[in-house]
Formats: sequence, structure tokens, C-alpha cells
Amino acid sequence: MTDTLILVDPTASTYELTELTAAQLPVTDLSAHRGDGIFETVLVSLHGDEPTIVSRDRHFRRFCDSASALDLPEPDPQLWDRVIAAVIAEVTAADPSITEFGIRYAMSRGSQNDDGETRPRGWAFPVPVDEHILTIRTRGITAVSLDRGYDAYIGSKAPWLLLGAKTLSYAVNQAAGRYAGAHDADEALFVSHDGIVLEGPTSNLIIRRGDRLLTPDPDAGLLSGTTQRLIFDHADELGLRAEYADLSLEDVKTADGAWYVSSMRTAVALRELDGNAIAVDEVLTERFQTIIRAG
Ligand code: PLP
Repeated sequence: MTDTLILVDPTASTYELTELTAAQLPVTDLSAHRGDGIFETVLVSLHGDEPTIVSRDRHFRRFCDSASALDLPEPDPQLWDRVIAAVIAEVTAADPSITEFGIRYAMSRGSQNDDGETRPRGWAFPVPVDEHILTIRTRGITAVSLDRGYDAYIGSKAPWLLLGAKTLSYAVNQAAGRYAGAHDADEALFVSHDGIVLEGPTSNLIIRRGDRLLTPDPDAGLLSGTTQRLIFDHADELGLRAEYADLSLEDVKTADGAWYVSSMRTAVALRELDGNAIAVDEVLTERFQTIIRAG
């Protein structure tokens, strides 16, 4: 994969191409020490004539909502469209037979000058769909449940927790992933302190119960996923009803199928939770993956 990096100046609405391997971000940038910024990771699927930027608008709307939650300037859609198009052009020029890859785009608050003012910085670069992702799409995953440390639905009372925003502060999510790995599981499943299932560290959970698809309510304290919403928008054609619900761990363990869904993973079957086997619905896994690739 090409090592293109695009540096974006959101204030001037300009960008320049450079290389990922070159040092680019001053250590004084507030994203480096405070995680003070926002990002998106979007899947680009190249199975038709034109590249499909999966859930492009859902991602950009969430990017804008995250900017608003952090009091960052509103991202300029035309600028970021051009940036994404430039990444796609670089990747496909370097590898015309590539079938899918991700693009990570971000905006940080920038560095503070002597007067305490900041000027945002943006960047975007391609990320490969790696071997691990390809493996779990077919073999599925196991998870352990972990207490997220707050009660469900706390976000409206505590907006500073930024629960629905996709910020660059992922140290807790990374730690949860390592904890799961150390306990022989592929993934963590966050549960609110009062026992409501929330999400994985970088994915949403969907379960099937009969003819219903169920997923935790984003207001419970999780990121509203673009992949989850894409699947829910296609529920009708799958002959299923889609609903938000408060789920317990027992609901997940006794489901007729359960999936971790996110942009790069697409949909992977959750086969086991806390050592309990969960029913695997291979047909629906395949259909979810096809719907996601079509964008
Ligand atoms: N929840 C969290 C915490 C995430 O970081 C992500 C994606 O990275 C998701 C859910 C899934 O979101 P999406 O489907 O938009 O990739």
C-alpha cells in the first residue's frame, strides 16, 4: 500500500501530499498529548467500475457532529471530499487491482500559540485491510465483557464525557483490547456499570432474535456506528425488523446470531461471549458483508 499522507489545513481549506514515513506532526499538537481531536475511518470498496466510499455521508455527518461536540470548527465538506478523492487516486495509481482499503481522516485542535490560540490541523492516509481482518470475517471472534465504568444514558447529564463523539482519545479502548487479549479473547464487550450492553472498543454489536435485529441505543453511551446504521437501513430487504434496545449479557448469549460491525471489519460473527457459545448465522453474516461492500 502506498505511504501517501495528506496534510490538511482546515482554516485555509488547502491540502498537500507528502509521505507517511516523514515526520509531520509537531509534538506540541494537542492531539499528541491530549487526544484532542476527531477522526473517521471509512472503507473504500472497489468491486464495481467506480470506487464506493462506504457510508461516505454517514461518516462525514458524524465527523461534523464530533467537531461540534469538541467545539472544533465545522469541517468543510468540499475540502474533505477532495482530500478523500486524492487518497483514492494515489492508492489506485499505486495498485490498480486493489479491491478494498480504508481511509483514516482526522482533525486535531492543533498547537497552542503564546496567546493560547489554536489552529486546527487535518490529515488523511490509507489503511490496508490486513490479514487479521480477513481472518475474522470468516472465522468470527470471541469476546469478554468488561465494565465501562459509567451507568447507561449518562451522556445527556454529562456531555463533557463526549460519549457519542469519535475523538482521538482511544487509550481506554486500546487497554480494553489488550485486557481481552490477555484473557484469551479477541475482543472486549463494554457493558455499562448498571449492566446494559454498550459496544466493542472499535465496533458496534448487533444481535438477531427471531426476525428482529437489535442493537444498543447510542444514547445509552456509545458511538452511533455508520455500519450498524447501514445494516439497519437494509433490514427490510433481509426480511427483518431493526430496533434499538437495552440488552443484557444474557440477551447476547442467547441470541440467534450476534455480530461486531464496523467500517473495516464489516460484519464478523461473535461466536462466544465470556466462554458461552453463541449461535452463528453464517448466511446473515455473508449478507451483511455484501450489503456493506455495496455501500
Ligand atoms: N464504536 C466505536 C467505539 C468505534 O471506534 C467504532 C469504529 O471505529 C464503532 C463503534 C463502529 O463505527 P463504524 O461502523 O462507523 O466504523
